[in-house]
Amino acid sequence: MVVLEKDVKYIKGVGPSRVLLLNKLGIFTLKDLITYYPRTYEDRSKPKYIYECEDGEEVLIEAVVCSGMTNVRLKGKTMQRLIVRDETASATITWFNQQYLKSKFTIGNKYKFFGKVTKKAGKVMFTSPVFDTEEKTQNTGRIVPIYPLTYNLSQNNLRKIMEAGIQEVFRNLPETLPEYILKEYKLQNINDATKQIHFPNEFKDFNIARNRLVFEELLSVQLALLQLKNNYIQEKGIKFSKEAKMSDVINTLPFKLTKAQLRVLEEIDNNMESEKSMNRLLQGDVGSGKTVVAMCSAYKAVKSGYQAAIMAPTAILATQHMENFKTMLEKLNVRCELLISGITKKKKEDILERLRNGEIDILIGTHAILEDNVQFKNLGLVVTDEQHRFGVKQRTKIAEKGENPDVLVMTATPIPRTLALILYGDLDISIIDELPPNRKKIDTFAVNKNMTERVNNFIEKQLKEGRQAYIVCPLVEENEEMDLKSVEKLYETYSKEVFPQYKVEYIHGKMKPKEKDNIMERFKNKEIDILISTTVIEVGVDVPNSNIMVIENAERFGLAQLHQLRGRVGRGEYKSYCILKYEGKGEKTKERMKVMCETNDGFVISEKDLELRGSGDFFGTMQHGLPEFKIANLFEDIDILKLVQGVAIRILDEDPKLEQEKNRPLKELIRDKFAKRIEI
Ligand code: ADP
Ligand code: MG
Repeated sequence: MVVLEKDVKYIKGVGPSRVLLLNKLGIFTLKDLITYYPRTYEDRSKPKYIYECEDGEEVLIEAVVCSGMTNVRLKGKTMQRLIVRDETASATITWFNQQYLKSKFTIGNKYKFFGKVTKKAGKVMFTSPVFDTEEKTQNTGRIVPIYPLTYNLSQNNLRKIMEAGIQEVFRNLPETLPEYILKEYKLQNINDATKQIHFPNEFKDFNIARNRLVFEELLSVQLALLQLKNNYIQEKGIKFSKEAKMSDVINTLPFKLTKAQLRVLEEIDNNMESEKSMNRLLQGDVGSGKTVVAMCSAYKAVKSGYQAAIMAPTAILATQHMENFKTMLEKLNVRCELLISGITKKKKEDILERLRNGEIDILIGTHAILEDNVQFKNLGLVVTDEQHRFGVKQRTKIAEKGENPDVLVMTATPIPRTLALILYGDLDISIIDELPPNRKKIDTFAVNKNMTERVNNFIEKQLKEGRQAYIVCPLVEENEEMDLKSVEKLYETYSKEVFPQYKVEYIHGKMKPKEKDNIMERFKNKEIDILISTTVIEVGVDVPNSNIMVIENAERFGLAQLHQLRGRVGRGEYKSYCILKYEGKGEKTKERMKVMCETNDGFVISEKDLELRGSGDFFGTMQHGLPEFKIANLFEDIDILKLVQGVAIRILDEDPKLEQEKNRPLKELIRDKFAKRIEI
């Protein structure tokens, strides 16, 4: 039996300094090592004759050494030179500062060399190729794995260590999938798969191995999520009162709810009244009207004798919710309060006090709600808005403030359904797939930088008619300092050079909540004509009079994000516009811009985004809480994902707790994978 938890330092070829390097790669145990998968492969299996070698290509040759190694001094370096030949021609092979190589070659013996060819005037040269003796195939003569590396650890080193690791485990790995599943889905056994994923004999073997490993990885994630969900279902939740009627709110609304809103409310209503605790994701495009859904749900909780908490990612958004809730619910005798970090100490203490005494029915706020001193009398419902801004941990943290309260998570990031199942597999999903009527399509144009003047004229025309404009700054990768600079620079340009006659202001994430609120307030009141902003305005802000949005360097944003930003306009009675200014001539950029101009449908856009960027980037920007996938790629492996989702559901239908003997491997697999990170 192999001990997979064995420290990697006991593997052959791993000395004290290499241990540290391996640790840097996240490799601590033998198991970590063998599941550290190659990034790509190089085919070094088919030798060429020297005569056939072309300049610039990477080639494997098999050749006999025909001279002793010579040292040549060159600008402070020594160059080692070797002449080799095969049946067709000779070649010169050189290295720099590798005197020790001298002992590695014997005149008259055959070696394999793999490397990049330089061919000048018919002379073939290799510089620093990898090599093997005739019998060995460590670096050449096969398909060679290429690993993601860290400084100071070479492919060669890691490959050797990996080979030693694989040798220790091969034929001794316990099977991690049940026999019946291997059979039914024609999957390779774990031993061969592990060997072939690192050192495939042929590319088709690699595919067979990868297929099995991806299946296993996706199946275990899906099973874990579904089990979490089953646990929720079995947990007894609050049974909210049938007498608390959402229709009280619906009847006082100034508009008619869409069919989709009504359907979703019914799903929530049933869930709240049932014994099952609610853990539900509400997906709906920007502007689809999620807030009223939250409002009706909160109302139901309050009229059933509980308190509700509404958590939003920014103070601006929380404040806006507060205004909406107050307008609609105060006349129905519901007491709402706002808790954000900007308020005075005295006010805060007062709120906390009343919250504990049950004198506040609905608490709306930001992260501030999560603080330990925020205690409810009887919290029954938690709504978090724009879920992707909150980690799953925070989601659970607030839920712990009550006794198993119902949870509603709202997001405007449309996620293709299959992917939603893996991202939010632990939640039930409700979707608002319809916008309120008479929403006007936002006309979107993509323009190159050289059109700036025309764009500015267009903005001015709108301003003259009394409208307002947003200018959104380019993202400067994950760096708030830089983002700030770009806001300030744009502000200079627009306020001094382009529109000195208008009131221009700027807003960014580093400002104090009070400052931000103040600026938003003035923008809402039309005291500001042009608002320059980072993506802080991305979520939820409602200023119906602003009908034009210019996004600078639009090529730097993800499509889903552009779509969210664009949703800030088109909220009033005026025809609205979104202008995407982009730089660069890349085909992908153009295609992305085209998608934005052609459709306003968030789901279509997110599918496209995923397709054009790949799942890594797509999820990278979403800050989801899932463990990273070691081998699966959610976009490329979508077919396996779909298959596995069906498999997982069938397995759990038959054996909800994975107690049957035949499913024991699955149980272990999940425990093993998620024990450390069940915070998903
Ligand atoms: P989001 O889903 O992006 O959070 P909101 O809830 O902020 O959207 O709704 C956007 C705007 O549409 C709000 O001003 C809201 O009052 C309004 N609204 C919501 N539902 C309807 C409806 N059925 N008919 C007309 N307007 C609606
Ligand atoms: Mg919203």
